[in-house]
Amino acid sequence: MTGAVAAAGASRLAAARRVVVKVGSALLVERSTGHVHRAWLESLAADVAELRARGQEVVLVSSGAIALGRRELGLAPGKLRLEESQAAAAVGQIRLAHAWKEVLGHHGGTVAQVLLTLGDTEERRRYLNARNTLTTLIRLGAVPVINENDTVATAEIRYGDNDRLAARVAQMVSADCLVLLSDVDGLYTADPTRSPDARFIPEVSRITPEIEAMAGGSASDVGSGGMATKVMAAKIAVSAGCSLCIAAGREQHPLRRIAEGARCTWFVAEATPVTTRKQWIAGMLKPAGELHVDQGAVHALREGRSLLPAGVLKVRGRFDRGDAVVVLAPGEVEVARGLSAYSSADATRICGRRSSELEALLGYRGRDEMIHRDDLVLV
Ligand code: GLU
Repeated sequence: MTGAVAAAGASRLAAARRVVVKVGSALLVERSTGHVHRAWLESLAADVAELRARGQEVVLVSSGAIALGRRELGLAPGKLRLEESQAAAAVGQIRLAHAWKEVLGHHGGTVAQVLLTLGDTEERRRYLNARNTLTTLIRLGAVPVINENDTVATAEIRYGDNDRLAARVAQMVSADCLVLLSDVDGLYTADPTRSPDARFIPEVSRITPEIEAMAGGSASDVGSGGMATKVMAAKIAVSAGCSLCIAAGREQHPLRRIAEGARCTWFVAEATPVTTRKQWIAGMLKPAGELHVDQGAVHALREGRSLLPAGVLKVRGRFDRGDAVVVLAPGEVEVARGLSAYSSADATRICGRRSSELEALLGYRGRDEMIHRDDLVLV
């Protein structure tokens, strides 16, 4: 890779505010013993601590539950039946979480285990719930360690591979960088284990059918995600404004190595997570309701502030928390669009009221804002 491309990649990781790192089973679990690859994991934990010490937020997506649990249950090598993988995950997940808690604990990190299924990222209400929990954990300084909830996820509701799960998580937490640590160092024009003249691709700025074709087929044998799933993950990440890096994780200190310019493939996002989110809000075809606001609120929005319940005069339409609504100034002029933090029923209850009154009115403590400025676009 050329020096300039490597430097650009390294600075992309250094400049990221929120980084998701996906760790594959093949790296984390020693093939010969079926145990956690301890020294390696400790080196990665030191890298994570370095990022955090620089003020970067880190979320981990870790595979390895099945690989760790199968050995302990004495399951024979080879492909497992679904219920055997689920049983193995139930045993291995405890070991996995414990290993992370120990290695990050050495650096003073608090580890939070989060197990997700497909529905948690595809169904709107559950998505919002998971998003809130994850962002709260991050705000409180914990390091979420996420895996698929393999024990309950049956075939239809599985991701099956953590590459895609990691991309969904990156999108969910508005990460600006996702690193897939794997047993390959990036994308090649063909499978390098089969074609000796396969060329390495350091940077992808657009995922064309040609790029997808290059990824077809190659698979590592311990984890389930091959290059094709990594490119699929890149599509999700990039369209959410998150750049994705496929990097070799075998050596110790894999993140430090990327920062020092090690060879890897970057899928580059043009927009940031906030602008992508805003474009999506602006382009929503069917807002579910209307919030009529006073002149003071219009003024605040134009200054880049959030919409508070106090400035809302009237609520129209039926909508749920997280639905898109139109914001109308006096005279019914559309001034903004955004995602409401409250359902229409709750919004009606609290409109015109101060943030300090909300809890008493609603019976629970919700957000101070009706629409947070990150969820709002002026028109
Ligand atoms: N969720 C699985 C596990 O923890 C791994 C899936 C994958 O390797 O992508 O064992």
